Amino acid sequence: MTLDALAFGAHADDAELSCGGTLVKLAGMGYKTGVVALTRGETGTRGSAEIRAREFATAAEVMGLTVHKMLDIPDGRVEVTWENKLKIIAEIRAHRPRLVFAPYWTDRHPDHENASQLVRAAAYLAGLKKIETGQESFRPVRLVFCQGRFEFAPSFVVDVSDAHAAKMAAIRAYASQFHLPGQADASPGPGQTLIGRPEFLELIEARDRRFGAQIGVRYGEAFLIREALKVDDPVAFFGPDYLWTIP
Ligand SMILES: [Zn+2]
Repeated sequence: MTLDALAFGAHADDAELSCGGTLVKLAGMGYKTGVVALTRGETGTRGSAEIRAREFATAAEVMGLTVHKMLDIPDGRVEVTWENKLKIIAEIRAHRPRLVFAPYWTDRHPDHENASQLVRAAAYLAGLKKIETGQESFRPVRLVFCQGRFEFAPSFVVDVSDAHAAKMAAIRAYASQFHLPGQADASPGPGQTLIGRPEFLELIEARDRRFGAQIGVRYGEAFLIREALKVDDPVAFFGPDYLWTIP
């Protein structure tokens, strides 16, 4: 199955949080999208691998994904190894996405940082014929980094205003991970996690509002690319719709 955009996360729910609105929007525009989680999330403080797999499937449906898949890299031990690169190369070659979304390379969780490195290497290596996986070589057009715990100055912000309700619904599908209204365990303590705190979903909402404000819309998701953007016609590109204010 050929995809237009494929997002990798270390864990189920990583892609929903960082680029879920964009995936919802792209699916709504008729593009084929997918999410690959490198682990099954078995080390998470809350829930279990089985529960997280069910939640992952529900979120995938909410986001209109064509493909969702969990790999079997051990949770908490996402390491930058050749074996793990090959697993990601195989996914890229199987789905041949134009765009690959990866976690930002600086993060609090070592799995996220290593996932970033792995996906970046694999996106390049997938294009080399002599790396054998029994598949045709393929290199995505662009690798795009998504925001996690630490912010970056974005290369671009996607307007996800119309997709934001669905993004939050996809996130709430992870009932084992996030605090939902009516849940009792709101106070910090054993079994409590940062993302399980009641204010976590508000933080996501506030962040998306803030990046939306940067482009003059209600909700936005920020992305980073390492290369320069190619612009053929700067007059048209920086037209009246580009920004709502002149800096
Ligand atoms: Zn994660």
